[in-house]
Amino acid sequence: MKIALIAHDKKKNDMINLAIKYKDTLAKHELYATGTTGTLVMGETGLPIIRMKSGPLGGDQQIGSMVAEGKLDLIIFLRDPLTSQPHEPDVSALLRLCDVQCIPLATNVKSAEIMLEALKDGKVF
Ligand code: PGA
Repeated sequence: MKIALIAHDKKKNDMINLAIKYKDTLAKHELYATGTTGTLVMGETGLPIIRMKSGPLGGDQQIGSMVAEGKLDLIIFLRDPLTSQPHEPDVSALLRLCDVQCIPLATNVKSAEIMLEALKDGKVF
């Protein structure tokens, strides 16, 4: 399964902790991430991750284009709902494309944990 990881700045620690907790599960899949998120998660977990550009520089759009082409199976996008983002249009476009393509999308830690637990147990995907 191809999984993309994205975290806004105030959610990067949450993403790192999530990746550490589910490292064994994530290691069985092909991982993609926006630039900074990918660098941090790779550094903390050693998981191999294919990195796109940083989100504000087009990384969200790159992930969105993969979604449009059916090249991703699950997205974990830990958004910061309390801070305005300079690339908000790119964020909205990515969320919309996930719904268009019916790609599972977790936008907060609890949702991500439910998805990763299901993945770990082989229950859903
Ligand atoms: P980043 O991008 O991982 O490069 O910080 C995330 C985002 O803000 O969309």
